[in-house]
Amino acid sequence: MGIFQRVGRPAILAASRSPRLRRTAERLPVTRKVVDRFVAGETIPDALYTVGALRDSGRFVTVDYLGEDTSSVDDAERTVQAYLALLDGLARRGDADTTVRPLEVSLKLSALGQALPRDGEKIAYENAHTICAKAREVGAWVTVDAEDHTTTDSTLAIVRDLRTEFDWLGTVLQAYLHRTEADCREFAASGARIRLCKGAYDEPASVAYRDAADVTDSYLRCLRVLMAGSGYPMVASHDPVIIDAVPALAREFGRGVDGFEYQMLYNIRDAEQRRLAEAGNHVRVYVPFGDEWYGYFVRRLAERPANLMFFLRALAERR
Ligand SMILES: Cc1cc2nc3c(=O)[nH]c(=O)nc-3n(C[C@H](O)[C@H](O)[C@H](O)COP(=O)(O)OP(=O)(O)OC[C@H]3O[C@@H](n4cnc5c(N)ncnc54)[C@H](O)[C@@H]3O)c2cc1C
Repeated sequence: MGIFQRVGRPAILAASRSPRLRRTAERLPVTRKVVDRFVAGETIPDALYTVGALRDSGRFVTVDYLGEDTSSVDDAERTVQAYLALLDGLARRGDADTTVRPLEVSLKLSALGQALPRDGEKIAYENAHTICAKAREVGAWVTVDAEDHTTTDSTLAIVRDLRTEFDWLGTVLQAYLHRTEADCREFAASGARIRLCKGAYDEPASVAYRDAADVTDSYLRCLRVLMAGSGYPMVASHDPVIIDAVPALAREFGRGVDGFEYQMLYNIRDAEQRRLAEAGNHVRVYVPFGDEWYGYFVRRLAERPANLMFFLRALAERR
């Protein structure tokens, strides 16, 4: 395992929890410049502008209103209102509701109140239900993001409940967790849409693979389970090893272009996104927007030394 993986990544993710560092980073004008590389603006019109450009280039979207670890019922309610307004904005685009819906929103249950000390899980369920009902009305999909491993049981329980009413609801599973192959078996058998990613949090060895090669191996095992199942696999990765493995797996399990999709983050490997879309695949781009960008931004820095260097260079060069 490289020094960045072993030391740099955990240190950056730990620093992300320091409120002082957060305030400092948020105040630096240069941060904004670097943040703009990963985030599609702060407002719904900003997000819709990016959605328009991506749809014009033949890509699908999933839009995420940034925010996590909400600490009050009112903040959770504000997040719900933002999603309802976002879904209204997406509805006005009028993209056709096909078997594979081009428009989707992604949400974090912690932004909907999951961690609130009183009735957090119930509040998050009800808030997510409100958003799903609106998505159904406008013909969009919803996928629930995966957060740190202490939330996985609660998140999957909420998703199972919601899926009894909204069977198109998807969820994210993280290949770095030891438990995920079993979770893939369960959800693949129930016909769910599953977004498989490697995982972006700093997890202990007791619950997660920590070596990059082990994570990739686990990813490929999980993807095989999803491809073999009756659900809809969403291959969320920028890793060429994973992307190159997909066509053979799809062929083996008789899946055509409507039977799975590639997914990548906004502005990461953009040329590869276009190449896959131009070749006739469904490619969905995860488009984050909003002013609560700090957690998302730090996870992107922690993923790749080049991103951190880009940020540090911009800091060093500021006048
Ligand atoms: C659509 C989508 C949704 C996601 N949702 C979640 C979630 O809910 N929960 C969660 O824990 N994680 C989520 N992630 C993040 C994911 O877990 C990984 O942290 C991230 O995708 C990096 O892993 P990778 O598979 O791309 O492979 P890596 O091995 O990390 O990267 C492979 C290559 O991709 C490129 N690349 C990867 N990351 C970056 C970057 N930040 N900047 C520039 N280039 C990069 C580089 O060329 C790199 O060499 C999501 C990712 C995607 C694509």
